Amino acid sequence: MEIDLSRLILNLRERETFSLQTMGNDSFLEEIGGKFIAPIKVEIVVEKSGMIFVGRGNVRTLLQLPCSRCLKDFTFPVDAEFEFAMAEAVNSDQVSVDDGIIFFEADEADIMSIVEEAIFMAIPICSLCREDCRGLCLVCGQDRNTTSCSCQQETIDPRWEKLKSLQ
Ligand SMILES: [Zn+2]
Ligand SMILES: [Zn+2]
Repeated sequence: MEIDLSRLILNLRERETFSLQTMGNDSFLEEIGGKFIAPIKVEIVVEKSGMIFVGRGNVRTLLQLPCSRCLKDFTFPVDAEFEFAMAEAVNSDQVSVDDGIIFFEADEADIMSIVEEAIFMAIPICSLCREDCRGLCLVCGQDRNTTSCSCQQETIDPRWEKLKSLQ
């Protein structure tokens, strides 16, 4: 996913808007068992300020993720904001690297890793198919959203357990 910064580099413009669309790379979501089920759509406004190119964008896509409780796949919409700062590699000795600036070589800057990071940040650690998902039975493993098993559920909160031992 590349943005052409040549007009900004030549000072023909002070700001430029980019609308991009690409297919996501599923291997990036492999670790959490997810995949893309819609293209990644990105809108970015890039402004040039001295040697720094500041981008502010929005990324939207649809992911398929496994529910953290019942393990069933569900659709998770991503709609996230992100920001970045870039500079031309030729100016790298004149720009402070402390600011997390990304350097690009030619006129085209690849922002895929920035977009992927924004998507990743949008995924909650505990992603649920629905807020009140009842999860799997810890005894028999059945989906408690669809089946009501007759297992004895140990529902003692570990924090209460600790209090009990203090008494
Ligand atoms: Zn669930
Ligand atoms: Zn059960």
